[in-house]
Amino acid sequence: MRKTIIAGNWKMNHTGKDMRETITALAQSLTASVKTEIVVAPVFPYLAEAVTLAKGTPIHIAAQNMHWLDNGAYTGEVAPAMLVDIGVTHVIIGHSERREYNNETDETVRLKVKSALDHGLTPILCCGETLEQRDAGIMQSWVEGQIEKALAGLTAEEMLHVVIAYEPIWAIGTGRTATAAQAEEVCAIIRHKIAALYDAATADAVSILYGGSVKGKNVAELTASPDIDGGLVGGASLKAPDFLEIIQNAV
Ligand code: PGA
Repeated sequence: MRKTIIAGNWKMNHTGKDMRETITALAQSLTASVKTEIVVAPVFPYLAEAVTLAKGTPIHIAAQNMHWLDNGAYTGEVAPAMLVDIGVTHVIIGHSERREYNNETDETVRLKVKSALDHGLTPILCCGETLEQRDAGIMQSWVEGQIEKALAGLTAEEMLHVVIAYEPIWAIGTGRTATAAQAEEVCAIIRHKIAALYDAATADAVSILYGGSVKGKNVAELTASPDIDGGLVGGASLKAPDFLEIIQNAV
């Protein structure tokens, strides 16, 4: 059985005080027996402190990005070993905002996924189509292409450590959630693609999340769908009560 994963992507939000309050409030409400895997992704400056606050709680701390190389003359970048060094366990890779605003390409996404795995970090690989692509009828080929390029060269064993997040760009931050049927359709497409690239058992073991305006009110229907194993949550992960409602309602 795949475990349910609820990941909060804080994006460029929360200074130290908000970060401390939110993680402390989450930690106080979550018992160690919670079955859902919980991930929170603050901005770089607070990752180390977030790891300390989350110690002994069910909360895992993720980075929102990383470079694929180990070190070097790359001003402003952060290397995977640095994240591992401070206790970060997950990293979001290829979010549509980074693809749009930070020149993230299928090739840099591929390099980062591989590098994360090489360093023992769990990559949360994001994919998803624009509304124009959906309306043009190329959603499936686009998402399959993103997945194939991002995973190129990975072994089936490595694939077992990849988490995929399907995030239709038209549903991110818009309040316009994909219906459970729409989200399930694409998550199933992704799983079939993994089966084609690897095998059915590998595809069956990979966690596929949905992201895009996930809330406490819609998470149950989304995660009850057979191929949706959790959510990557932006706006509704910023306040502890909202995020806790999502964690509680996820199935
Ligand atoms: P949202 O963001 O929940 O605010 O739509 C999701 C995401 O970008 O991961």
